[in-house]
This record gives sequence, C-alpha cells and structure tokens, in this order.
Amino acid sequence: MSKEYIIPIFLPHGGCKKRCVFCNEYSATGFGEFPKYRDLDKIFERYLSYFSEKNNVYMAYYGSTFTGMEKEKIKYYLDYSQNKINEGYAKGIRFSTSPEEINEEIIDILKNYDIDLVELGVQSFNSEVLEKSNRPHDLENVYKAIKLLEENEIYFGLHLMTGLPGSNYEIEAYSVKETLKTKAKTVRIHPSVVLKNTILEKLYQKREFIPETLDEAVKKVSEFAIMIEKSGKKVIRYGLCLYGDQIRNVVAGPYHQSFGDLVKTDIIYKLIDNLEEEVKVPIKLKPQFLGYKKRNEEIIKDKSIIFEDRVDIEYGRRKGLDLEKLKKILL
Ligand code: SF4
Repeated sequence: MSKEYIIPIFLPHGGCKKRCVFCNEYSATGFGEFPKYRDLDKIFERYLSYFSEKNNVYMAYYGSTFTGMEKEKIKYYLDYSQNKINEGYAKGIRFSTSPEEINEEIIDILKNYDIDLVELGVQSFNSEVLEKSNRPHDLENVYKAIKLLEENEIYFGLHLMTGLPGSNYEIEAYSVKETLKTKAKTVRIHPSVVLKNTILEKLYQKREFIPETLDEAVKKVSEFAIMIEKSGKKVIRYGLCLYGDQIRNVVAGPYHQSFGDLVKTDIIYKLIDNLEEEVKVPIKLKPQFLGYKKRNEEIIKDKSIIFEDRVDIEYGRRKGLDLEKLKKILL
C-alpha cells in the first residue's frame, strides 16, 4: 500500500454542541478562524508542495464536529474537496465528528461525495466516563452511528482515549474490545493530556483530576495497540498531535513529542519479552527493535535477537513474530 498524504484543515470547534473536558481546539491546533475557499487553496497548494508524491492525497477536516455544522457549511467544504477530487488532485475526503451527529440525513449528504474515512470520536465505551468528560453523546449514539456507517458501507475509524475522568484500565480495555467488534477500519488512541484553558485544567488545579504518568500511558497504549493490530485493524496514530508553539499549552499529563516512538519501543519490548528462544530479525528493523534511545538494547541481548540481511517471513511466524505485521507497525 503506498503512503497516504494528508492535507489537514482545521475548523476549530465547528459544530460542537458541548465542550469536552480535555478539549480546546484553539489551543490544540493554533487556528482560530474557519478557512474560506481562497484559504483552502493556499493550504492545499502549500501541503501539495511538501509531498514527494502527489497521487495519494486526501483532504481531512479536523478539530471539529464536522457533521454537526450547518448543512450549508458541511456542503461548502465537501464541495471544495470533491472538486479537487474531480480535477484529479485528491483521492478522498476524511473528517472527524462526534457520534450524535451521524444520522440518516447526514448519511444521505455523505453519499454524494467521495468520503474515504469518517473518524468517529468515541473516546470511551463507558457511560459514566462519557458523562464526566462532558462528551456530547451517549453510548446509544455511538452504537447507532456505527450501525449507520456500517449499513451504508462508509469507511470509518474510531478514536479512543485513556486516562479520562472516571476511567481506568478495565474500562479502557473494554472500549478496545468493543471497538474490535465493529467494522472500523482504523483506530486512533491517545492519552488524556491537560491543555491550557480546558475544563480538565480547572479540575487538575483543584486536584480533582490526576493524569496518568507517561509510563502508564505508554504501557497501556502499547498493549491496546497490539490487541488492535492483531485484529487486523490499523492504529493510525498514538498520542496527541501538537505543532510548534502549541506544545506550550500542555499543562500536565503524559505528553511527549515522541510518544509514538515510545509506544512502538514498548510494543517491541513486550513482543521480545514473550519470545522463548533465539530469533532472527531483518536488519532493516534493527533501529526500530532497539527503539527510542536504544531502550531495548538490554532485552535484545538477553533474548538473543540476531539481526540478518534476509529473514524468511515463515521463519518469523514459526518463532512467534509476524514480521510482515511488524513492518507495517514499525516502518
Ligand atoms: S466534540 Fe471534538 S472538537 Fe468538539 S469539544 Fe469535543 S473533542 Fe473538541
């Protein structure tokens, strides 16, 4: 599968009926205004100039409840993107939205466009956690949205979070298991980070919210990622995505600029730890096996991992390492 190139377009809090405790999209994205067509053109051209290949480009609307906006606004952005698709510059449209804003009327609109992926912000499959997090939806909305997307064969992905108010390991593992029962194509999973000007910041200052430590978050996310990848779904992102100055908006919690690398390092650690005998691994995966700041160096020595130029995939499978899958996760 060739690399996908994403043009992200931020519509901060567009269509949001409530403010989730962890969210301040102005703080998280650094953008305050909604782009008009000429701004969209500029964003499009700028990103296109960064891409080494221009034939696998997707436009993605983030930072909002996309389908919660007024219908005219939804169509405005979808029409813009569809024109780019019709002109041959892009292949599909993605957007993030909240489950209560997926209904029959919205599905009818979406059917007129080349929607590649609907990213559904579920965050948790526990009612109490949803309530404490001030999410705009309940579990019924979640299951209804999933059913509608599945019935209408619209590809979708689910967003999950760890460390939300009222959440714990068992609840999060249950959320992952519920996710695996769906036809979701992708999963995003990230820990709760306290950002400036959020409800969570106030709760944190009053000591009513204690974030996970970085170590706890990495261990949980890597464990869940292994479960998800084993099921055949793809984890498209670990950790929160913040750019440049926005990192200064982090008040507390498990934020790390290399969170994804820490998770991948821990995934490898867990897989190696389970091996019972010496295993050969393709040398091209050596940096990934050593992991972030060579944290896995010791366990690699202990478990006698041998790096070789060519390693037969079947050999890896026999030894309990699915090298094909690992390449997809690590490279
Ligand atoms: S629905 Fe999404 S964008 Fe809106 S406040 Fe909640 S997390 Fe933020």
